[in-house]
Amino acid sequence: MSASALAESILTKYEPVIGLEVHVQLGTKTKIFCSCPVEFGAPPNTNVCPVCLGLPGALPVISRQAVELAISASLALHCQINPFSRFARKNYFYPDLPKGYQISQYDQPLAEHGYLDIVTESGKKRIGVTRVHMEDDAGKSIHDGFKDSDKYTYVDLNRSGTPLIEIVSEPDMRSADEAYAYLTEIKQVIQYIGVSDCDMEKGQLRCDANVSVRLKGAPEFGTKVEVKNVNSFRFVKQAIEYEIERQVEIVERGGTIDQESRLYDAASGVTVGMRSKEHAHDYRYFPEPDLVPLRVSDHWLGEVKTRLPELPADRRDRFVNQYGLREYDAQVLSLTRATGDYFEIAAKASGDGRTTSNWVVGDLVGLLNAAGKGIENSPISAAHLGDLVALINKGELSGKLAKEILPKMFETGDAPSAIMDREGLKQISDTGALEKIADDVIDANPKQVEQYKGGKTALLGFLVGQVMKASRGQANPAAVNEVLKKKLS
Ligand code: ADP
Ligand code: MG
Ligand code: ZN
Repeated sequence: MSASALAESILTKYEPVIGLEVHVQLGTKTKIFCSCPVEFGAPPNTNVCPVCLGLPGALPVISRQAVELAISASLALHCQINPFSRFARKNYFYPDLPKGYQISQYDQPLAEHGYLDIVTESGKKRIGVTRVHMEDDAGKSIHDGFKDSDKYTYVDLNRSGTPLIEIVSEPDMRSADEAYAYLTEIKQVIQYIGVSDCDMEKGQLRCDANVSVRLKGAPEFGTKVEVKNVNSFRFVKQAIEYEIERQVEIVERGGTIDQESRLYDAASGVTVGMRSKEHAHDYRYFPEPDLVPLRVSDHWLGEVKTRLPELPADRRDRFVNQYGLREYDAQVLSLTRATGDYFEIAAKASGDGRTTSNWVVGDLVGLLNAAGKGIENSPISAAHLGDLVALINKGELSGKLAKEILPKMFETGDAPSAIMDREGLKQISDTGALEKIADDVIDANPKQVEQYKGGKTALLGFLVGQVMKASRGQANPAAVNEVLKKKLS
């Protein structure tokens, strides 16, 4: 029986428990313990040296930039930074691990006791971050060939020694959707503070999902299974959903869950056993003798803190308070740093945050999407968009004309006033000019004028419309109203 055949009524008796271990590659120029460049796609084994090749006698020296990025990430995850942390050797054999051990942190990690707030359909929820620790990455094994006779595995050590942080969550998530939201939030905040691009295709963000199930209301967690190295958020979600059903089915049958590592096979949508706890690694952790303990002084911590930009969640709240934005718009505008920066410059130029946010989230994003451009490459500068909103608010431009001007600004990169001058699109507020058009409209519509004078005041709207049309939309509607009322009274 396939797991997906499980009846919904059985599934709902159980509660899934999920904790995630997320590896993020730090955006340093060089590796963590040597000065080799970190560069994706370089010819194999070109960015290597005795340290990252694990040659005997080579000594590691820790990268200051790597530590600072790890501290920044930990602060953004609201962790406490330990003033004293320690590196440890995690021993195991693998062809792409030339040292025979990974340098990680074990009993004294860089940071602990943090959290991240996620937003799901059922509202806001706080997910605990147990710890953030630093470690080096292994190289890469590349499997090549299809037939047994020409199957080869190559080892590329360019990645060996790339700086990583591991972010370990508390087992606080209760659905695949919450896990998805947590990952999305981590990626957003890490990108935002410039710690990593989190490009999953380049392996800059990798996730292990720990999943267990228990009967609702049960006091203890069930035995967990770890699904290793899933390489897209969508697959993490699918893998968790599959795992939940697989485990419920076993428990329902009266079986027990093996504590094991499994792999998700995206093609078939199932998880497959990898190794169980009986064959579990004993990593023989011990303190790394070649590195001194890592001390983070208050002074250093303070320096890193001041360089940390405002976090997305804080910015979201500030946009609501300072500019009177709706929660939703504030959320959209603080999704990336570039969008928020753009909005703020535009809002300052216009003096009207709320209207500006409508133009950014609506029309501008529409044009950008259609052109396949990001806001950081917007042909319309933030200042020009702000000017456009200001012109509307000053009554020099109707909203309708503004919508016509915006695509022209997008095409040319010109200021709205330059386009208005060039195309003669200035809003007509000048009463003399309006009176002339109004007279023409009154002459051309004697029947409606008579009915209006006879008490059908609703016809004023029709006459205003005629004046607007005659002016090609350039008349100021409020001024037209005034002029017509005066003439018809
Ligand atoms: P291990 O020693 O096997 O690595 P940890 O206690 O360090 O286990 O936890 C690793 C991850 O597994 C953490 O993210 C944690 O939240 C999660 N986790 C722990 N227990 C459970 C459980 N019963 N069900 C689901 N996830 C769990
Ligand atoms: Mg683990
Ligand atoms: Zn090196």
